[in-house]
Amino acid sequence: MHSYSLIAPAKINLYLEILGDRADGYHELVMVLQSIGLADKIYLRSISTDIIRVYCNNPQVPLDNSNLAYRAAELMVREFPTAFAQYGGLEITINKQIPVAAGLAGGSTNAAAVLVGIDLLWKLGLTQSELQELGAKLGSDVPFCIAGGTAIATGRGEQLSPLPDLDHLYVVLGKYRSLTVSTAWAYQMYRQQFGSSYISDVKSLESRASRVHSGPLVNAIFHKDGAKIGGLIHNDLERVVLPTHPQVLQLREAFHSTGVLGTMMSGSGPTVFALAESNAQAEQIQDQVKAMIPTPDLDLWVTRFCNTGIQVASSAK
Ligand code: ATP
Repeated sequence: MHSYSLIAPAKINLYLEILGDRADGYHELVMVLQSIGLADKIYLRSISTDIIRVYCNNPQVPLDNSNLAYRAAELMVREFPTAFAQYGGLEITINKQIPVAAGLAGGSTNAAAVLVGIDLLWKLGLTQSELQELGAKLGSDVPFCIAGGTAIATGRGEQLSPLPDLDHLYVVLGKYRSLTVSTAWAYQMYRQQFGSSYISDVKSLESRASRVHSGPLVNAIFHKDGAKIGGLIHNDLERVVLPTHPQVLQLREAFHSTGVLGTMMSGSGPTVFALAESNAQAEQIQDQVKAMIPTPDLDLWVTRFCNTGIQVASSAK
């Protein structure tokens, strides 16, 4: 039986703007997404019984069919019944390094790794865009997690335009262990408070989304200008999460006071990230914030931007 070990990187949002509501109940978004070095490891192997089994080292992660990695395997079983009959069931072991419910797409990147891994395990030979189409059925961030790197995401977040690599930048992440924010709650709160200003006609939605493609942040990314990027990062969801989560605001202010290139909450939070020009600067920021907020509840990581999505670490017969 073959097995694969895959690296599944987390993502941060350099930009997140909520434009309006969609007919399918989701929000119309414009985002700039960035893969980072903090990653889970997914070990995938065929087993002789026809079941899907999930293991994880983090007790916060469900092991049943509410796990996005499990759902990715179920989807592949449904889509490719002949291969499933030939190769049998699947054992998925998640080595979770990405904090859970943190705005870092931990579940989505696990699902992306399972799609990529099963394609290899079952020798399906799917293209990246075929895998991304399958991924979009599981969640809006899954297509990005498959390809990774830096990209503009529109629609629900599943329509991607790749941008040049930014792998010279470093990032410090901070998250209170005891704090989680539900993505659904954050978007619901946003709709309640700001829904009256949503754009509703399709033409205006399209022109607003297309403005980001030629806007100042994307221009700064093309010029690989870390200082400009840091000054232009933006996240609409801060408008609902910061006022209701003072710890997140305090963490953001602590990062800001250290003179970072820029600091922002990622996705629906509560993770806050800060951009740095070098590993040494990132470590200095980490030490300063640790000294300012000396609680064991605050986890901090130093990592860097990465220009890849799901990667195969190893395979075995
Ligand atoms: P996103 O940024 O995509 O909204 P997130 O990073 O905020 O996601 P996740 O880490 O994906 O959040 O976790 C969200 C919820 O999904 C958790 O409460 C968890 O119970 C559930 N979940 C399902 N599968 C997974 C998985 N493989 N890894 C982590 N959480 C998972």
